[in-house]
Amino acid sequence: MTGLVIAGGGLSGLSLAAHLAPLPVTVVDDGRRDVAALSWASWADRPGLLDAAVSRRFDRVRVHVGGRTRVLGLGRYRYQVVRGADLLRVVRERVPGCSFVRGHVTEVGAGRVVVDGRELAARWVFDSVAEPPPAQALLSFHGWHVRSERPVFDAAVPTLFDFRTAQLGGASFVYVLPVDAHRALVEHTSFTRSAVDSADAVREYLEDVLGAGDFVVERTEKAVLPLSAREPVRRRGSVLEIGTPGGLVKASTGYAYQRVQRDSAAIAVSLRRHGHPFDLPVPPGRFRLYDAVLLDVVGREPARLEQAFTALFRHGTAEPALRFLDERTSPAQEARLFSAMPAGVYLAALRRRVSGSR
Ligand SMILES: Cc1cc2nc3c(=O)[nH]c(=O)nc-3n(C[C@H](O)[C@H](O)[C@H](O)COP(=O)(O)OP(=O)(O)OC[C@H]3O[C@@H](n4cnc5c(N)ncnc54)[C@H](O)[C@@H]3O)c2cc1C
Repeated sequence: MTGLVIAGGGLSGLSLAAHLAPLPVTVVDDGRRDVAALSWASWADRPGLLDAAVSRRFDRVRVHVGGRTRVLGLGRYRYQVVRGADLLRVVRERVPGCSFVRGHVTEVGAGRVVVDGRELAARWVFDSVAEPPPAQALLSFHGWHVRSERPVFDAAVPTLFDFRTAQLGGASFVYVLPVDAHRALVEHTSFTRSAVDSADAVREYLEDVLGAGDFVVERTEKAVLPLSAREPVRRRGSVLEIGTPGGLVKASTGYAYQRVQRDSAAIAVSLRRHGHPFDLPVPPGRFRLYDAVLLDVVGREPARLEQAFTALFRHGTAEPALRFLDERTSPAQEARLFSAMPAGVYLAALRRRVSGSR
């Protein structure tokens, strides 16, 4: 019997394999997503096991909300980028006993994973290929990796969000991850109820907001991410859902990288301590409630997203907002962050949530 099988060798599968080392694991992936071509940005205020895969770190971010641009320090945080190719390399180095199987998973059940019709027996199965929880909203991305004629990008400062863009079918902003003065990922992001094509919005941003002059699109990144603030049921017998199906994508931001790292570390601790992977910390439920309320409010009134971000990022550094999004704030700190938001709007959403009405 193979001891540990991970279905899906993307972000969560690879991260878990690394955290479980030196336990031998089998990672099964059918290659539908080219992990080597992906990358994940995140903020971190402490060292991580996979830091050798970090290719870039920033100590400031730019935000454009409420009609003004600000460059904010990150306090104890750093904004960092991990490229899929680097993650693969580091995981292969860390887990020499890991076997990577190329194959399509059709079934994940107690003690078994069916791969291309062949059964793999396993004591514990970690499933990142199951259906994600039902979506309450969608996060629709349309990103271009561009090379511009003019040096319009600030290589030292990513733009977390810039609201100078059409609010296509939902609350929208543009994210810019620079490589150098001429190259960047420029991504239009919308909280929507259905996928939107926002290529025109990315073009407008490059031409009208940045004044990039002529530009070449070297690569396009498009995706629709289901967002859910519900607490997922992660365990099915000897199967634990991880990654997106495990509810690790934060519903109010679409970020998952650091949550996946923390989850992987907790799974490894549980296995070592108890011989099973299910003793996982449950974050206070109020954070899922905040996410659900924000999705409700923004779904009804898209302009509220900019207002909420203006309130959260109003301090001298981005640290209080990032700590809140990391779910590491106290209720008193949250009350201070929320004090600049329109209480009535959020309380009405909270009442709808509690009474179960839409
Ligand atoms: C375009 C985009 C950009 C994102 N950027 C960021 C970011 O910058 N920072 C951040 O924190 N989060 C980001 N996210 C959110 C989240 O971190 C990623 O979606 C992340 O990859 C989720 O990890 P995962 O393991 O659940 O899924 P994946 O990384 O997609 O891994 C799933 C793996 O399973 C494989 N697979 C699927 N079905 C099968 C099957 N039946 N059999 C075998 N293999 C299968 C796929 O090939 C894939 O490799 C982004 C999401 C998207 C879509």
